[in-house]
Amino acid sequence: MLRVGINGYGTIGKRVADAVRAQPDMEVVGVAKTRPNFEAEQAVEKDFPLYAAVEDRVELFDEAGIELAGMVEELVEASDVVVDACPSGIGEQNSEMYDEYDTPALYQGGESADFVDTSFNARSNFSDANGADHVRVVSCNTTGLSRLVAPLREEYGVEKVRTTLVRRGGDPAQTGRGPINDIVPNPVTLPSHHGPDVKTIFPDLDIDTLGLKVPATLMHMHSVNVTLDAEPDADEVRELLEGESRLFVIPEHFDIDGAGKLKEYAQDVGRPRADIWENCVWGESITTEGDDLYLFQAIHQESDVVPENVDAIRAVTNSADAEESIRTTNESLGMGI
Ligand code: NAD
Repeated sequence: MLRVGINGYGTIGKRVADAVRAQPDMEVVGVAKTRPNFEAEQAVEKDFPLYAAVEDRVELFDEAGIELAGMVEELVEASDVVVDACPSGIGEQNSEMYDEYDTPALYQGGESADFVDTSFNARSNFSDANGADHVRVVSCNTTGLSRLVAPLREEYGVEKVRTTLVRRGGDPAQTGRGPINDIVPNPVTLPSHHGPDVKTIFPDLDIDTLGLKVPATLMHMHSVNVTLDAEPDADEVRELLEGESRLFVIPEHFDIDGAGKLKEYAQDVGRPRADIWENCVWGESITTEGDDLYLFQAIHQESDVVPENVDAIRAVTNSADAEESIRTTNESLGMGI
């Protein structure tokens, strides 16, 4: 069993902890938190040993009556791999601690790509992370774009990707985020950071991205145009995308007209936290005009990186190849809606 520690138990960390626990070859050694909030209570409720991330906050846990298993350093020492899911920038600061205990670490998309050995997307570059010490699982949007680009490159070749990302203003729990009543080009200059980020996975890809922010918390929406090196018809592309385990091509008869119904569907099928780990591509949006492909896809920002973190754990420990890891992760989580 691979012993996995999770440092940072918020939106991403708590989901990764549940996903790791669901794997047949992994166990959660513990989770580390800075504050005794509702998520800390839940960690204890779920029997995840809880470690304090900051020494001088230990007494806050004592005051709240939450029992600690120790300090984060002990968690790192006891782990074969640490998943760092701290807010952007903290992961890089933590990297010295992981080195000190000789524990390989995974970071999230908010971290810089510069200090890690490789950025990671399971479908696209799994083996680049084999044996690495510092691996960055790319952001929700970059994960969504990489999963789509990988099969298109393999099957047809890609001349250029142009994508407009309509981004949710914040996650449901992020009370401080906005916009509240606006539609904001963000950033107003081109490219948004997403295109360069996708190039950490496909260095030779020609990609331009534009970003906006809207007052929504449900999902991101991508309007995608890919110029291919071939001229397939739309049905062929659709069949290709339907064959990808982390792409959900929404059938027309589902009558799902937006992110709201997608989340409702996720609740109906009993997904934990109404999570949607797959890219959601509208089947009828898949259109080709000569060598140009167009489509819309929705990305659930809080959860699409979760299976990728699980696969990255197997990649850094050399415990499975991409195909086997993706299959095990998908089956354990119950993917495929
Ligand atoms: P979050 O704020 O929901 O969770 C972060 C957690 O880390 C919180 O519980 C916070 O208390 C804790 N924390 C803060 N400082 C810490 C420290 N020094 N040690 C240990 N824990 C600490 O943030 P999040 O949304 O889960 O984002 C985490 C990372 O994942 C970021 O890099 C972010 O860019 C990336 N990411 C977020 C999303 C998303 O939509 N939320 C999607 C993909 C990637």
